[in-house]
Amino acid sequence: MSKEIEGIKCSTCGKGEINFEVKKEYPTKIGGIAFIVKNARIGTCSNCEEEIVDAKEVEKWENERNRQLIEKDLLFSSEKVIILRYLLDLTIKEFALLLGVTDIAVEGWQQNGLPLGPTSLLLSMLYEEAEKTDKVLHPILDFLEEQQKEREKLIGR
Ligand SMILES: [Zn+2]
Repeated sequence: MSKEIEGIKCSTCGKGEINFEVKKEYPTKIGGIAFIVKNARIGTCSNCEEEIVDAKEVEKWENERNRQLIEKDLLFSSEKVIILRYLLDLTIKEFALLLGVTDIAVEGWQQNGLPLGPTSLLLSMLYEEAEKTDKVLHPILDFLEEQQKEREKLIGR
C-alpha cells in the first residue's frame, strides 16, 4: 500500500479520514455481472464509514473481470472486435450500421469487449469465418446488409 494517498479527507462528510485496506475477497458487480475481487483496495471513512474505491483500482477490477470472462469464453474481447473490424475492412460507422447498433456501442466494445449474448455470438461466427478467408464472408455480409435493409424498411426510412 502506498503511503501518499493515506490521510485524505472524506469528500462525503468532510470530517473523517480515508483509511485504505486490502480486502482478500470483495464481492461487487461490474457491468451487471456479479464478481469477487481478490485483494481489493478499499478506502473507508473513519467518520461516516463511506467506502471509497479509486478509479485506477476500478480499472484493475474491470480488467480482471474481463480476463476471467475471456477464460470462461463469455466475453468477445476488445482485441477481437478491433481485429474483426480490420478483417472486414469496415469503419466504426459501417460496422455499427451492419449490426444495427450505434457507433458508441462499437466504440464501447473496442474498449471493453462485449459479454455473451446474441451479438457476441454473431461476432464470434463472423470472426471464425474472417480468420479463414474473406471469400466466405461475403455471403454473411450480404445477409447482414439484407437484414439491415429490411429493418430500415420496417421503420419506414
Ligand atoms: Zn466520511
